[in-house]
Amino acid sequence: MNPEYSSIDTRLIHAGEPHPRIMGAITLPVFQSSTFEYQGGGSYKDIHYIRLNNTPNHNALHAKLAALENAEAALVTASGMAAISTALLSVLSSGDHLLVQNCLYGGTLNLIINNFSALGIEYDFIDGDDPDSWPALLRPATRAIYVETMTNPLLQVTDLEKTAAFARRHGLISLVDNTFATPINFRPPEWGFDLSLHSATKYLNGHSDIVGGAVIGRADLVDAALEKLNILGGAMDPHTCFLLQRGMKTLALRVRRQNATGLDIARYLESHPAVSAVNYPGLETHPRHERAARLFEGSGGMISFEPRGGREAADRFLERVRLAAVAPSLGGVETLVTRPAATSHASISPEERRRAGIPESLVRISVGIEDAGDLIADFGNALS
Ligand SMILES: *Cc1c(COP(=O)(O)O)cnc(C)c1O
Repeated sequence: MNPEYSSIDTRLIHAGEPHPRIMGAITLPVFQSSTFEYQGGGSYKDIHYIRLNNTPNHNALHAKLAALENAEAALVTASGMAAISTALLSVLSSGDHLLVQNCLYGGTLNLIINNFSALGIEYDFIDGDDPDSWPALLRPATRAIYVETMTNPLLQVTDLEKTAAFARRHGLISLVDNTFATPINFRPPEWGFDLSLHSATKYLNGHSDIVGGAVIGRADLVDAALEKLNILGGAMDPHTCFLLQRGMKTLALRVRRQNATGLDIARYLESHPAVSAVNYPGLETHPRHERAARLFEGSGGMISFEPRGGREAADRFLERVRLAAVAPSLGGVETLVTRPAATSHASISPEERRRAGIPESLVRISVGIEDAGDLIADFGNALS
């Protein structure tokens, strides 16, 4: 890597950008062209076509994303779910077995429990916090282990060091959904993970105006994911590439601000008499605070809490917030609040939510980049 890019802040701006600049353009223009003139060469890879994810806008993003996580390679996809499904289907085939964390993003859970059996792929759920229970679930056909850096919406911190070590010891491919931590707070390849997956819809883009995904990691595995993506068709379109590249340039500024404001808000909520519980890895009271401090450079912008008074109190809070918008999704510059039981986890039954430890009254906050004092005043008002 270019030594001038030693800091992630500099890499965000300069890694992957064309040198020399095209016509001197400071910003890489959108190459809104589905196909490109034949340039010679005899392989499929020499054809440039949007679905093959290899136009100039794709290539610049791939190099930038790989540089951010100190990885060998990266690939952008049409959505976070395209990244997750394509990566899993490039690693697993019929007859294979997967160990997968029991608390997952809803789309990922749906992919596994409603689609894998038809594909002949078997799986067992694991507790991401209990590595001693994993060896008993290993089978000769076990191929991979899949976890998330932090669970949604309870913000539990997976034992990521043990996950990567376990995979290495048993010859498994390790995959981690790193959406919540972002490359600013956690870089999975540096901790031994084979593949890091992102919903670029969230923090990477950061402006709640596109849907996209990324697969980052070992070159051979990213290549295999690209081959699978080429036929499954989940390519990112060039204009979305352009917006993602623009959004990513401010990732470090946004995420560090969200780390700071997240901690301020979590501390405020923890001390508030109308709040009975706060889940935030940056709080000393978080059961895995020490692990989070060791792994993460910041605790991020996702918080969940339980107002006293049950579901009615949560609904009242959502009705009364003014600055924060009540909306699903996360990772943008605007602060969003939701009640997971009514949004992200509405598709599972109340019984399953109870088993997953998700109270009906739980409120999730995605902290934006507004002033922390203004947000705290808004939440204080909504809680009073
Ligand atoms: C949103 C999200 C996804 C899915 O991403 P899309 O871009 O909506 O397809 C996957 N994992 C996590 C952790 C997410 O928050």
